[in-house]
Amino acid sequence: MASPDASPDASLGASLIQNYARLPLAFERGQGVWLWDEAGKRYLDAVAGVAVCGLGHAHPAVTQAVCEQARRVTHTSNLYRIAAQEQLAEHLTRISGLDAAFFCNSGAEAVEAAIKMARLAARARGNDHPLIAVAQGAFHGRTLGAWSATDPLGENPHTPPPRAPGFVRVPFDNVAALEKLAAETPALCAILLEPIQGENGVRVPARGYLRAVRELCDRRGLLLMLDEVQTGLCRTGAWYCFEHEHIAPDLLTTAKALGNGVPIGACLARREVAAHLAPGAHGSTFGGNPLACAAALAVIETMQREQLHERAARIGAYLSDGLRDALSGVSVVREIRGRGLLIGVELDRPCKPLARAALEQGLLINVAAENVIRLAPPLILTTEQTDWLSARLAALIKTFASEARKTGR
Ligand code: PLP
Repeated sequence: MASPDASPDASLGASLIQNYARLPLAFERGQGVWLWDEAGKRYLDAVAGVAVCGLGHAHPAVTQAVCEQARRVTHTSNLYRIAAQEQLAEHLTRISGLDAAFFCNSGAEAVEAAIKMARLAARARGNDHPLIAVAQGAFHGRTLGAWSATDPLGENPHTPPPRAPGFVRVPFDNVAALEKLAAETPALCAILLEPIQGENGVRVPARGYLRAVRELCDRRGLLLMLDEVQTGLCRTGAWYCFEHEHIAPDLLTTAKALGNGVPIGACLARREVAAHLAPGAHGSTFGGNPLACAAALAVIETMQREQLHERAARIGAYLSDGLRDALSGVSVVREIRGRGLLIGVELDRPCKPLARAALEQGLLINVAAENVIRLAPPLILTTEQTDWLSARLAALIKTFASEARKTGR
């Protein structure tokens, strides 16, 4: 029990496991690109719940779909057919070019399903100890399989071993390393990659990398697994980032923006690969329930109607150009990179305090990989809001740079 003289604030959150380093504010409501905190202060949200709220907050189409569905039926389980799930699978297979979908509740779960399908496909070919190539700097989630595929470098040192076996790590954006691994490793069955490494600071591989990996997979009989949990659903200026290279994966994971905040994820697969998930081989109680699918259908239909992939490409280029102009010659800025509305501003030093300083300016940003400001705002950002964001962020970085100069660091 809290001691009688403990301040109410001090006890807030004390019953939570302290696994997040949260900033000291909470939001009461949102509208479009804006969030309001409990004191009524307004913030432009350039985090969007970590690339989740692509349509912005309280989007009317999603709100309406969720309310209507909640009034009818929320959950029935996968023991029965779910019309909205079948409809959503049709949309996603048409958009991605893959053949079939499995629904779950998060990105990590989508990755787990992909790993399981790749391993089952390998076993069916007589490979009983299959290996999956994964990249340095990769992030695939925090469940055991997905976490084992994630690069532990730079992560919380308290994360305990052991990790699940079955993964081999190679440098990212390096086709030669993958070629060598494939030539030397008969047990290799698949390659799992993010088209852009979001958590690792928006690392964009060289043009042609994914295409070369696709060709390697075809030559060697390997599955190409793309994790588009962060890059998917219009964020990079295409429905899925792989489209920029005119290729298609064999397995694709998608989540985050799919429900605009209602938890839902999916693993999409080519038919031959999907066939390995026979009844009982995999499942999820909540996966693809009527409520989550109603939200996701509203998201997909809105993205389609408003052509948000084109908007993300246009506004993303405008934001990147604006930041390059505003920050040209600022000593601490190393690089501004990204695609569409997934943008990283890399500084030459750790910059986590910038996220806190931005709060005072009414701006939400996020720092990835210690020294990269990651911007993943809602895809509905207008040019005026983009100008506002560029100006505030540039001013913050300039102040940060001049303070760094003063302290001689
Ligand atoms: N894969 C990628 C590329 C991600 O960026 C993330 C989350 O940031 C995940 C998987 C895990 O998703 P979730 O947190 O929904 O489990």
